[in-house]
Amino acid sequence: MLSIIIPSFNEEGNIENTANTVLEAMNTGQINCEIIFVSDGSKDGTFQKVAELSKINPRIRGIEFSRNFGKEAAILAGIEKGKGDCYVVMDCDLQHPPATIIEMYQMWEEGYDIVEGIKSNRGKESKLHGMMASSFYAVLSKLTGIDMMNSSDFKLFDRKVAKILLSMPERRTFFRALTFWAGYKTKEVYYEVAERENGTSKWSLRSLVKYAVRNIVSFSTVPLDMVTFLGIISFAGMIILGIQTLVRYFMGNAIEGFTTVILLLLLLCGGILIGLGIIGKYIAAIYEEIKQRPRYLIWHDTDSQDDVEAKK
Ligand code: UDP
Ligand code: MG
Repeated sequence: MLSIIIPSFNEEGNIENTANTVLEAMNTGQINCEIIFVSDGSKDGTFQKVAELSKINPRIRGIEFSRNFGKEAAILAGIEKGKGDCYVVMDCDLQHPPATIIEMYQMWEEGYDIVEGIKSNRGKESKLHGMMASSFYAVLSKLTGIDMMNSSDFKLFDRKVAKILLSMPERRTFFRALTFWAGYKTKEVYYEVAERENGTSKWSLRSLVKYAVRNIVSFSTVPLDMVTFLGIISFAGMIILGIQTLVRYFMGNAIEGFTTVILLLLLLCGGILIGLGIIGKYIAAIYEEIKQRPRYLIWHDTDSQDDVEAKK
């Protein structure tokens, strides 16, 4: 069975249509599925709609958060509730085409553990939003070494990957990047981003910036490493400046008292920056430790015969 997780925040106008469209597509693809709506503290009748539908069709299930905890939390809660052999996460506004799920599912049947939905276009979004999003993902791709440019939250993954995601000890998860981090047999599927079905995007500029900063901080220590790097660069600059100041002093064309001031400044600033850099290194190490991620994930093992069979 396939569990389809749909995080929904104030989507009352979309629930019914989305459920029907998805169920229809799954019927076409002859896929046994359940749909799990996770109402992320919606202020409208999102959950009531889901509850109504689930009375008619037990394949539709739902939970509601006590308040808005964000899409990341909604995704994880949905995965936790799902009972499927594989999982799909998609948006409630049908921007992720249900027909693509069939394609993803077939790949899962072929033996892929993760099928990444990759945007072949970016859909209709405002210029500013598009620019912000692409610069965020460009920076993040650089920082994490994972190509995040056109990736999305639309993906399918096997139950074993779901278990890994749920067992991540860190509080600040970044679903989109974690499946890349997990590895396994992965395939990409391209899809066209459709227009939002009903209502407006739930992201304001402020929430996007917050999301960007949060995810960079939760996935990379590069900004911290940059402090160290800047410290070293400034230190090198200070040595050069220090030498130049001393040369001037000994050549006798320095203003009285100026040399001492410059040297003192250089010494203090250099010391502070290097100190910050060292602290940064330790904080980066603490950060890695505190996430308590598994050191590795094992995929196959010769001691388990089934596994080796599966690898063939
Ligand atoms: N969403 C959510 N919690 C939030 C914000 C959004 O669960 O705090 C859901 C929303 O209901 C939708 C999906 O996340 O199903 C993507 O949101 P949206 O379509 O607003 O984002 P966009 O497509 O504009 O990036
Ligand atoms: Mg959307």
